[in-house]
Amino acid sequence: MQGAPQDWPLLVHTILDHAARWHGDRKVVARRADGRIARTTYADVHTEAQKITGRLVASGLAPGERVGALCWNTDRHLSLWYGVMGAGLVHHTVNPRLFEEQISFIVNDAEDRIMFTDITFLPLLEKLRDQLTTVRQIIVLADRADVPETSLEVTAWDDWLDGAEPHPWVSVPETAPCGMCYTSGTTGLPKGVVYSHRSNVLHALGMSVPDVLGLSARDVVMPIVPMFHANGWSLAFSAPLNGTALVLPGAALDGASVYELMEDEGVTFSAAVPTVWLGLFKHMESTGQRLSSLSRVVIGGSACPPAMTKKFEEIYGVEVLHAWGMTEMSPLGTVASLLPQHDSISAEDKLALKDTQGRVPYTVEMKVTDDENRELPHDGKTFGRLKVRGPAVAGAYFKNAGAENFDEDGWFDTGDVAHISPDGFMKITDRSKDVIKSGGEWISSIDLENLAMLHPDVAEAAVIGVPHPKWDERPLLVIVPQPGAAQDGAAILDSMRPHIAKWWLPDEVTFVSEIPHTATGKIQKTKLRDAFQDVYKGAAA
Ligand code: ADP
Repeated sequence: MQGAPQDWPLLVHTILDHAARWHGDRKVVARRADGRIARTTYADVHTEAQKITGRLVASGLAPGERVGALCWNTDRHLSLWYGVMGAGLVHHTVNPRLFEEQISFIVNDAEDRIMFTDITFLPLLEKLRDQLTTVRQIIVLADRADVPETSLEVTAWDDWLDGAEPHPWVSVPETAPCGMCYTSGTTGLPKGVVYSHRSNVLHALGMSVPDVLGLSARDVVMPIVPMFHANGWSLAFSAPLNGTALVLPGAALDGASVYELMEDEGVTFSAAVPTVWLGLFKHMESTGQRLSSLSRVVIGGSACPPAMTKKFEEIYGVEVLHAWGMTEMSPLGTVASLLPQHDSISAEDKLALKDTQGRVPYTVEMKVTDDENRELPHDGKTFGRLKVRGPAVAGAYFKNAGAENFDEDGWFDTGDVAHISPDGFMKITDRSKDVIKSGGEWISSIDLENLAMLHPDVAEAAVIGVPHPKWDERPLLVIVPQPGAAQDGAAILDSMRPHIAKWWLPDEVTFVSEIPHTATGKIQKTKLRDAFQDVYKGAAA
């Protein structure tokens, strides 16, 4: 053939090259772990990342070796991420909210050689140090003067980088691994997911298009979702790819701190799990404050309750993008963006579409099957196992853990149960292990939770299946009431009754002061099931 495009490998550090060269002055503002605000730019982040690459190359690590990071979202963590990838190494973001045994398990399983950490996590590392058998050095993302007393042998950031010069990126193929993140392990041990340069670049491009996140150089993006959760929802890649300004909130994720930084920095776009937004609402409701710059939020990690979408859109004028994804998908799978045929539908019907997890972007293939792997119709009601594949979907876990989740045609079984509408909107009805089976029929716990959340006295709701002598399992509604609200279970059930089949209605309502969450903000249903397993024991058989 006479002519062909250039062989230009999809390397993730080319994203930062682009941002530094063409959006070099764009701000990257961070609240560092010590609470101070750092004001930098993409040009600064690029320079620092290449100094880090230089130091790592000099440290003698072999290409593909892992470097751990127990770090908040800050400018330094962003530079570190690129510096590690640019050195041909693998940046392993460690979730500090996991149980301590899980943290030592994943650091050892990944065989992290160096551990980077914020000062916040030094006490945790002091406890775990003896168990971390592969870590040779600990580097703290703080200046020497700010490193607190510690029994650990550590190097301060400024000392480590003192005298370092920017070093060119190390040449690797686009299929080389560059990132790693463990699933939170709600079932069994956490499993390692590995990202390549190519998967991260393709995923960041896929995230950027208008019907997905629609990022632009006009946006000021605040990723509240920590970089250690599910590849940081790819914002460390998609934001610089689009030259958007970045505002990184560090350790202060409470409503008041998030609000203050958002307003001070003119944030237009943000991303977080539902519980974070509950904190922001609570803050704004108690102070009467409004959002002056925020225009869009992406909400995912667990189902976004319609009451949350309604409040954001109708009270605060902020558009909600409800997204579904998984660590295994880099992480984006679907977004509930409406189509032209929905322009004329009622506000209520639009809200119902945004209650679904949405449609796939290019690069994600998706299907729903029965237990025999037969594909189910897109009729908006027949639910089954949700399966996906694509260039940014894991093809295997690290060290081949959990091989049963992948079939010979490359489909990954997500463990979610869902249906797909004729318009292509996917709706998760449950995790396969959380489905409630009552008298042989499935009940969706998520639908019930969303309905309960619509009641004004409800701050948070969880529905679990509890053993029942007659029906096998029956739903139990667990509620955290709004502060000062009446605890009237019958009234809440009455408000749900008109919207569901009679036999879906929970038999009981229990009020609690707190619902347990996993390290990534999901309701810990196993704990609730343990706590309430005897509730229906005395019911008539
Ligand atoms: P982890 O496994 O570490 O908790 P993940 O983010 O990888 O974190 O979890 C992925 C799972 O989270 C999905 O399989 C799904 O069950 C749930 N999830 C994510 N987003 C949504 C959403 N928008 N609606 C319902 N469930 C969601």
